[in-house]
Amino acid sequence: MATPKHRSYRQILVLTLALATWSCGGQSARRIEYGLVIHGGAGTITRESLSPELESAYRAKLAEALQAGYAVLSTSGTALLAVEQALVVLEDSPLFNAGKGAVFTSAGTNELDASIMDGATLQAGAVAAVRGVKNPIRLARLVMDATPHVLLGQDGAEQFAREQGLPMMPAEYFFTQRRWDALQKAQGRGEPAREQGTVGAVALDQGGNLAAGTSTGGLTNKRLGRIGDSPIIGAGTYADNQTCAVSGTGQGEYFIRAVVAHDIGALMAYQGLTVVEAAREVVMEKLVALGGTGGVIALDREGYIAMPFNTAGMYRGYVDEAGRVEVAIYRD
Ligand code: ASP
Repeated sequence: MATPKHRSYRQILVLTLALATWSCGGQSARRIEYGLVIHGGAGTITRESLSPELESAYRAKLAEALQAGYAVLSTSGTALLAVEQALVVLEDSPLFNAGKGAVFTSAGTNELDASIMDGATLQAGAVAAVRGVKNPIRLARLVMDATPHVLLGQDGAEQFAREQGLPMMPAEYFFTQRRWDALQKAQGRGEPAREQGTVGAVALDQGGNLAAGTSTGGLTNKRLGRIGDSPIIGAGTYADNQTCAVSGTGQGEYFIRAVVAHDIGALMAYQGLTVVEAAREVVMEKLVALGGTGGVIALDREGYIAMPFNTAGMYRGYVDEAGRVEVAIYRD
């Protein structure tokens, strides 16, 4: 028999659970005090398609990127710097379609897109279709910090990278056999192909500021000069301290047309949706209705995390204020 005292404990428990469920939009949402969420691309990633060795290589590299971001955040560094440092780790890895390991254009070259945004000031920087730049996310950050512009493309962006003393790399640096084979396949079919591996990060720092960033090689066999959603502020990347920070991965043309990253924040601001509800609405309803595949990572100013994707898998993970790292790949 429950005593009145037990009942009151039970009532408090039920009320707390109901409140927690309500505040997360009816779904169990993860929450961090501060930390970082990353993705390494969404697509047809299944257990059958990944060897155990490759799977553990992906998991290890995602964890390393999370730790790089955590090193910044745990020492009171900014969300912006955490995003940049985490993405540099992924750009430097041949596993991902960004920096080294980027996919090839129809001309057999690599053209890289990246962007970064500060949720505190709504300042943003981006680069599109740049060649030879080792870390496009660093260049995007410099566009934000050291020019009056938001988006620089191709020759001008590369010249700016050299002026700023960023490392430039020869074409061989970006070459990976796996991406080259994918180009041959796509050219055989005569169309562009999407391969997972775009990288993105969103962070909340100890000062309560949000930031987001995304970096990619785009689509295999894309036309020269094709620019995807990743360097388009509002499409592939967005951050606003009033709502949330978002980075997307998927068929860029759809993400541009659906203004995915900004739309998630707008649903929160104008409709009062939670970050979990807003991200779900855009990725699982709006994008699906258009025929677009992909996913996003989103983090709101209270530290609630959303990672919806409408594909088989998405490389993803987060690190919380205690430095605990969680990494996942498949849907389950
Ligand atoms: N969104 C990227 C693009 O369209 C590709 C991807 O995320 O896989 O350039």
